Amino acid sequence: MSLRLHNFGGSVRPHLPAAMLAPGMHSEGDGHALHQPVLVLNASYEPINVCAARRAIVLVLKGVAMTEEENGHFLHAARVAMRVPSVIRLLEYRRIPHQSRALSRKNILLRDRNTCQYCSTTLPSGELTLDHVIPRSRGGLSTWENLVACCHPCNRRKGNQLPHEVNMKPAREPRSFNLHTSRHIMRLMGHSDDKWRKYLFY
Ligand SMILES: [Zn+2]
Repeated sequence: MSLRLHNFGGSVRPHLPAAMLAPGMHSEGDGHALHQPVLVLNASYEPINVCAARRAIVLVLKGVAMTEEENGHFLHAARVAMRVPSVIRLLEYRRIPHQSRALSRKNILLRDRNTCQYCSTTLPSGELTLDHVIPRSRGGLSTWENLVACCHPCNRRKGNQLPHEVNMKPAREPRSFNLHTSRHIMRLMGHSDDKWRKYLFY
């Protein structure tokens, strides 16, 4: 597949160092535009990720991705003016490994949709912790299958006990975060952005 470097749209210059953009970067309208989720497509148009608009802009300016859809906001920085993307597509095909994604706090919270798996309360990331379903002190491992999002009160209540000892079972059986799971999450998020739909439902 040939690179379509000419197709960056607007006045964006692909050779511009992305770093120079960061300090004075702002967008018109509400300042949340740069934090809005952007759908990332593989070169094949397959949805593979979601990132913040700020990161998406850097990828576009670096010449790694191109804008497929815009979110209606306009970005002004040093010598750049461009429309904030809603969907970007990588210019080079990226092989997505079959093994599951990196185990991280962020990805566990994403998988569990920021919802405590014991009391089903949805909270901001900062108010959630990770609970070992089988406590480490009882031989539990730090794996996708043994870590769940948990609020602090439930975490304290459960302590070092096994789920059946305190009658606290995770709402959903924890599984590894595979591409199917992430597509499901992307679909949920995509409901708020009509421009995502044609890429997510295919
Ligand atoms: Zn809870």
